[in-house]
Amino acid sequence: MTETARIAVLSVHTSPMASLGQRETGGMNVYVRELARELGRMGFQVDMFTRRSEPQAPSVVEPFPGVRLVQIDCGPAGYLEKEDIFPYLPQFVDGVERFAAEQGVQPPYDLIHTHYWLSGSAGMELARRWSVPHVAMFHTLGEVKNRARGTEREPDQRIAVERLIARTADRIVVASTHERNLLMRLYGAPDEKLIVEPLGVDLDLFQPTPKATARRALGLAEGPIILFVGRIEPLKGLDLLVEALGEVDMPFTLLVVGGDDRAAPLLSQIRQQAEDYGISSDVRFLGTVQHERLPLYYSAADICVVPSYYESFGLVAVEAMACGTPVVASRVGGLTSTVRDGVTGYLIPWRCPEPFAERIETLLANEELRHNLGAAARRAAEEFAWEKVGTAMAALYNSLTAESVVAPA
Ligand code: UDP
Repeated sequence: MTETARIAVLSVHTSPMASLGQRETGGMNVYVRELARELGRMGFQVDMFTRRSEPQAPSVVEPFPGVRLVQIDCGPAGYLEKEDIFPYLPQFVDGVERFAAEQGVQPPYDLIHTHYWLSGSAGMELARRWSVPHVAMFHTLGEVKNRARGTEREPDQRIAVERLIARTADRIVVASTHERNLLMRLYGAPDEKLIVEPLGVDLDLFQPTPKATARRALGLAEGPIILFVGRIEPLKGLDLLVEALGEVDMPFTLLVVGGDDRAAPLLSQIRQQAEDYGISSDVRFLGTVQHERLPLYYSAADICVVPSYYESFGLVAVEAMACGTPVVASRVGGLTSTVRDGVTGYLIPWRCPEPFAERIETLLANEELRHNLGAAARRAAEEFAWEKVGTAMAALYNSLTAESVVAPA
């Protein structure tokens, strides 16, 4: 594969360039766009395909050098819940193929990299039509979600398609060894197809700012600040955090970052819960915050808490660490390979409020401990540079396209 190899990236249900913190926009969007930006820098030609969710959106834009965002019509015009997209995937596949045919090169791309099962499904078909390798990434898995929080069920169709992708994709990239083991155990994915490559963090953007400066910039008063950042959905465990804080016997302010209009029903439950625990005046809901402003919030906070029931990676934890803020996180999924217990923060093995409350109190009471863990956190985060991810993906793409050139002979 040459330096100018052409990569088709599929992110059907959510645009990599969408603003973050809404119901469907989080770590995966960051991953797709930052990896594309890095690959563009390295000389790849990357086309990111997504479903057009705003009828007026232009068909093609170039957000970064060498990288295009291509919007494809798929199903009814306007926003569509991801649960409703599957039946329209054939239209998406045909739209991508039409766009590709207009480029006048055969095959139009050297490799397809897909994100989430909906894109994986479209990617299987395009890889077959073009006879090119397919690299899949799930980000979340239906089976794993079902097991992490029994109150919600992912559709059987999703799990069946995930199984098919696990069988047919040439490689599956996972963010942690934990996810690799789950794919082998729950989906029967063969070990030799699985590539473990952690996500990256923008280490220039996510840097420590002195706490007083960050708080001044954000208009935040003195006093202990606990930060939660994330999409507002049950899997993120915000209810668990509020319950834990109900037991904390020290003054604090909890800042909750994330959540658009569609998060309103869950947020009103959380507000009610805060009221029931007598901490409603200590909790501030800030809604979504622009990604570029987040380093100030992480720096202003004394602790960042990630109380998720599951995370395949958990970018928020690493972003907080990169800003020198200790993290208290659930001992689940990818968080077990990013947060080091007792070194960069604490990992809580049980999904119950007491141990969270205990660790939060320990940290709030001890400034020197926070400082030491925060400094170690920044050092630990430095191993998650996007350059490293770009280099690993380029090596993977090169080996796969070399294999597919050799195979017919
Ligand atoms: N994020 C943001 N603004 C918000 C809320 C979240 O920029 O208001 C970003 C956050 O910085 C992180 C991503 O959304 O990069 C969330 O990623 P994570 O892996 O923690 O969770 P996911 O969304 O993948 O479940």
